Amino acid sequence: MRVVVVGAGLGGLTLAHGLRRAGIDVVVHERDGARGRRQGVSLHLDDRGTEALRACLPPAHLAMVDATTGGPRERTLALSEVDGRLTVVRAQPYDGTTGPARPGRQVDRSLLRAVLLTGLEDAVRFGAEFTRFEERADGAVRAWFADGSTDTADVLVGADGIGSAVRRQHLPHVRVVDTGKRTLMGATPLRAVAGTGLPDLIGHSATTVQVRGTMMVLGVLRFTQPPVAARDRWLPDLRSPVVADAEDYVMWALPVTQDRLGPAGSPTAVWRRARELTADLHPTLRLVVDEAWPEVTVALRGGTIPAMPAWPAGPVTVLGDAIHLAPGFGGNLAMRDAHRLREALVHAARGKQDLITAIGAYEDAMRRDSFPATGATRLEPAPGGAREPLPADRVRGSLAESGA
Ligand SMILES: Cc1cc2nc3c(=O)[nH]c(=O)nc-3n(C[C@H](O)[C@H](O)[C@H](O)COP(=O)(O)OP(=O)(O)OC[C@H]3O[C@@H](n4cnc5c(N)ncnc54)[C@H](O)[C@@H]3O)c2cc1C
Repeated sequence: MRVVVVGAGLGGLTLAHGLRRAGIDVVVHERDGARGRRQGVSLHLDDRGTEALRACLPPAHLAMVDATTGGPRERTLALSEVDGRLTVVRAQPYDGTTGPARPGRQVDRSLLRAVLLTGLEDAVRFGAEFTRFEERADGAVRAWFADGSTDTADVLVGADGIGSAVRRQHLPHVRVVDTGKRTLMGATPLRAVAGTGLPDLIGHSATTVQVRGTMMVLGVLRFTQPPVAARDRWLPDLRSPVVADAEDYVMWALPVTQDRLGPAGSPTAVWRRARELTADLHPTLRLVVDEAWPEVTVALRGGTIPAMPAWPAGPVTVLGDAIHLAPGFGGNLAMRDAHRLREALVHAARGKQDLITAIGAYEDAMRRDSFPATGATRLEPAPGGAREPLPADRVRGSLAESGA
């Protein structure tokens, strides 16, 4: 069996590892160049993502991920300003009972992606923008790329994120709707705010701060082991410069409306806007934003994909953000899809099930578990954020196609 995956994101790379470990021929085509672009800051990894990584990654990769997660996030905290001091006013167990979020640990996104790319150097083709596919009479699928090249496989997987070109052709009725919500996100080196007492106050907890009419979300990522030491011990083949650059930081998020965000374009402009919006806040919160790395600041656009009826299974399928969106845990769902799809394809490759039946069973489980009754939402970088602006064709294929 040969599998072509479009998109070297969290889902596509997890799937590629899982297939390769099962001896299945897999190639991943990625639109970005090998240096890529920074895709967000940190990621809350819960049991769904962890289980998928355990099933799909080689042991050394898994050890590297384990060694570089933050501490356990067992509580959520609410902070407020009491007599001029930031104070914990509420603490709740992070046990999934108060919302869809589950307990887990923080991981650095860039580091996780670098780990996932390690060992797949010969399987990932960078600078390969998928444009369309054709299902052939013999059951195979041929994929076309912007440079005129093609690739043919038994299965084509669209793991190409919210603007998925695979989904646009395969499931043209699927709508991506702009919710109108925006969130500014950034990261600040922990050393810059160490003297404020904030890191000790919040520990590893996911934290919401409500002060002077503004809401902010904070989280500290303290690597369990220094990434360089972990790399040297567990995964010496991991050569990405993100390892040496990694240091402990505070992740922050600031929900805003598009009106309040204004026309901010580049990451630095978004960071400047965040500074303006937090200028009246408690000095510690101001410092968090003032001392942030401007170049990693991003403005995210809220999007939602309404739940949809089942479609007939075939040799083309989709996973992750290409088909469902989830606020704060979409990465975990993408990795869970990858794990499930891997199981289905391995089953078929070993002759235990017909290929199309196996893909249909994967899609049934994915639709059942990834769409709450109201559909799902998540944040997509707004044009001009640290991720590149949505080009016109992606906007047409996502937001505009919904009429939003
Ligand atoms: C700032 C931020 C914070 C987040 N925090 C969390 C969190 O804490 N926990 C969590 O679980 N989730 C979080 N998410 C959501 C999570 O990042 C996504 O749900 C997840 O990345 C989806 O993975 P994916 O593999 O489906 O798609 P992606 O990771 O988006 O990967 C898609 C890939 O496809 C490539 N691609 C796109 N089009 C083409 C094409 N035509 N041809 C070839 N390649 C193409 C893209 O370049 C990209 O590399 C966050 C998202 C952001 C932006």
